[in-house]
Amino acid sequence: MLDKVVIANRGEIALRILRACHELGIKTVAVHSSADRDLMHVRLADESVCIGPPIPTESYLNIPAILSAAEVTDAVAIHPGYGFLSENADFAERVEESGFIFIGPKPETIRLMGDKLSAIGAMKRVGIPCVPGSDAALGDDMPANMKVARTIGYPVILKASGGGGGRGMRVVHAEAALPSAIGLTRREALAAFQNDSVYVEKFLEHPRHVEFQVMADAHGNVVHLGERDCSMQRRHQKVIEEAPAPGIDAETRDVMGRRCADACREIGYRGAGTFEFLYEDGEFYFIEMNTRVQVEHPVTELVTGIDIVREQLSIAAGNPLSFTQSDVVIRGHAIECRINAEDPVSFRPSPGTIKLFHPPGGPGIRVDSHLYDGYVVPPYYDSLIAKLVAHGDSRQAAFARMSNALTEIVVDGIETNLPLHRDLIHDAAFAAGGTDIHYLEHKLA
Ligand code: ADP
Repeated sequence: MLDKVVIANRGEIALRILRACHELGIKTVAVHSSADRDLMHVRLADESVCIGPPIPTESYLNIPAILSAAEVTDAVAIHPGYGFLSENADFAERVEESGFIFIGPKPETIRLMGDKLSAIGAMKRVGIPCVPGSDAALGDDMPANMKVARTIGYPVILKASGGGGGRGMRVVHAEAALPSAIGLTRREALAAFQNDSVYVEKFLEHPRHVEFQVMADAHGNVVHLGERDCSMQRRHQKVIEEAPAPGIDAETRDVMGRRCADACREIGYRGAGTFEFLYEDGEFYFIEMNTRVQVEHPVTELVTGIDIVREQLSIAAGNPLSFTQSDVVIRGHAIECRINAEDPVSFRPSPGTIKLFHPPGGPGIRVDSHLYDGYVVPPYYDSLIAKLVAHGDSRQAAFARMSNALTEIVVDGIETNLPLHRDLIHDAAFAAGGTDIHYLEHKLA
């Protein structure tokens, strides 16, 4: 096993990683910004190093500072969590060049999958179905671009090849709007992702977001852990996730999961990863691969009993996967609510002091959160403050437990989106299963 790991992240995922490390007897180093001295995992870590001021570019995205923290603490590996540097191929490369283990895929795999166009190209080569689209960056020849979009058929969606986090996308409903939309998306992409490459694909009008979790070791073993439905979204950001996806039968799961696992073998994938698809009229369309642990990994852990973060650490230590495909059995149903520090109506961030945090409990309830009474949620970072996860024998049982938990939980002192979750868990269409990715936006409108 690894001896000592740097946790290059913050909040709930840093605590999640710390817990997995300590279970395995791995020592931990928390690297944090000056605004994050009071984070729970910083308190619990064996060592901590302040790597810079609150602004992420100078702390959580500061590669030299993270590498020197690893050096001075004699750590052997770095876990990037999600967000921040987790999908930065240059970071992974520098980590390895400096003699540390990067807990994730090889840098070249991150690079291949990090660019949406090169990822689509790789997936097409290994037979994964993709959304009908240009499959190549749009050039400056507008008549040619119009022809491409016309062939795909309106509405279309423009996407920044280097985009992520739900940004860099624009829906276009008619040809007249295409040229200016391309210009705008290009400029935004350049500013946000330092890459002005933009492509176009069919905008699916009623898809669901269904994604497959995979795990691969460095010895060529690959398994899939089934799928999650993450269709409950606002502004392309997931709000609620569940596993398994309603209406996906065991055979479909097996066929698609194995295709993803085969794709991993083809590209030499290592570690935890997620294949994201849009699912419409019984067909899957690949949109992107995330080469890291995801926010919503707990729903898969609850239905499979497999600890994904523990397995990531074990794979990074060079061990073979601790289970095979036939060991993966989906038991019951799990649902996760992302609790954000934000105004429930305007969705504006709501940082501040937590006066009282009362986590719910009971059978089948899991709370992944770094909150405690008196903790101050800083204004500089993502607003996720807790993940409330419920597991039950059936979807209905999981929903009933979630409903109880949402009644019990108390977060006092700041605004949160708990009212939205309390509403959604009793929403008839959601309870019926299979609502599409536009459902929440329409409901809120
Ligand atoms: P990001 O990397 O920013 O998360 P994705 O490509 O994963 O971007 O897309 C995020 C979300 O945007 C999807 O879950 C879906 O809601 C929406 N989306 C992306 N592509 C399409 C499409 N072709 N048609 C309809 N919605 C789409």
